[in-house]
Amino acid sequence: MVKICCIGAGYVGGPTMAVIAVKCPAIEVVVVDISKPRIDAWNSDKLPIYEPGLDEVVKACRGRNLFFSTDVEKHVAEADIIFVSVNTPTKTRGLGAGKAADLTYWESAARMIADVSKSDKIVVEKSTVPVKTAEAIEKILTHNSKGINYQILSNPEFLAEGTAIEDLFKPDRVLIGGRETPEGRKAVQALKEVYAHWVPEENIITTNLWSAELSKLAANAFLAQRISSVNAMSALCEATGANVSSMFNTVSGKKVAILGFAFKKDTGDTRETPAIDVCKGLLGDKAHVSIYDPEVTEDQIQRDLAMNKFDWDHPMHLQPTSPSAIKQVSVVWDAYEATKGAHAVCILTEWNQFKELDYQKIFDNMQKPAFVFDGRNVVDAEKLREIGFIVYSIGKPLDGWLKDMPAIA
Ligand code: ADP
Repeated sequence: MVKICCIGAGYVGGPTMAVIAVKCPAIEVVVVDISKPRIDAWNSDKLPIYEPGLDEVVKACRGRNLFFSTDVEKHVAEADIIFVSVNTPTKTRGLGAGKAADLTYWESAARMIADVSKSDKIVVEKSTVPVKTAEAIEKILTHNSKGINYQILSNPEFLAEGTAIEDLFKPDRVLIGGRETPEGRKAVQALKEVYAHWVPEENIITTNLWSAELSKLAANAFLAQRISSVNAMSALCEATGANVSSMFNTVSGKKVAILGFAFKKDTGDTRETPAIDVCKGLLGDKAHVSIYDPEVTEDQIQRDLAMNKFDWDHPMHLQPTSPSAIKQVSVVWDAYEATKGAHAVCILTEWNQFKELDYQKIFDNMQKPAFVFDGRNVVDAEKLREIGFIVYSIGKPLDGWLKDMPAIA
């Protein structure tokens, strides 16, 4: 029986391994993580991330051939194939701060693999890393190898958050890069056989290491341009600020409802979400902010609002929530609750359910004049105006291209 271990139970590792397990009953898949709360959540009824279809896939194979564990070293030692899907955040300090990828997590994972391995391993690079990382990792592993053979493969992830399961079930392509040596080719073949359980051969492309790394980075660079258009969403912050102070004189002490906190619909991921800027702007002007998102927890929101920009991707470096932010922010589990008594509603994520809300009911329970700032063109502005709202919408409908936008993970 082939044993797979994935280091990192995040947005990439979790769904990818669940799909491998469900499609390959004869392979044992263990997802390990140093974060106990994350692993506990993967073993519970409330998974730590939300993706349509993920619950069903995990339920179908958890305890059968899919396991989640904090016993990182044991499962790494036992595995034939090790996926590394740890965080690669942007560096916050030192050379390349704000630009270069921080490979600290990757490096410590590689050193741990070298420490605990007793048999040959295929190590698969799953996180987005700079080109030639595989070579650096190879050096760490082979210099500490104790005679063990390591084959490094690059198998970049192209899934989009919000459609991860669909993308994993029917990938346009699976890219596997490896060394062009007999051992390298054998390793590429071994990983190809895993995917071949459900992906047609012609969609599995094999190449050399650095080409595989490069294609992921090229895809991300292209996407980054589109992301920066999403960042134009934070223009909503200015729009909100400006319009609110032309209308209210001040938002100080006023209640503003935020509908949606995730960076796009059908995900609970808040990294890079414009909602953080908008909320921080409003909090800075001393508004009371009441937030509703169907998938983002209160804990996550409070953490995001307390953190500095570059710390968002550093789960290990969490900072305590500032006491004033706790006082000014309430997180509720219902859009009607969030908007009750509010002066304004800001729609910041294009969740389908926001289209279906009873806006007459919302209007009746708000302070007048009642404002709607629709940052995602979710509502029918004309209809809302008929009800009596003052409506500001920005941008063109984003639905189409946001849907197929992979995460820059
Ligand atoms: P991605 O979006 O790429 O999946 P995430 O940040 O969602 O990234 O997940 C990365 C996970 O990797 C986190 O849960 C983190 O705790 C875990 N992790 C980081 N370093 C290690 C390590 N050395 N061993 C095990 N897990 C790790």
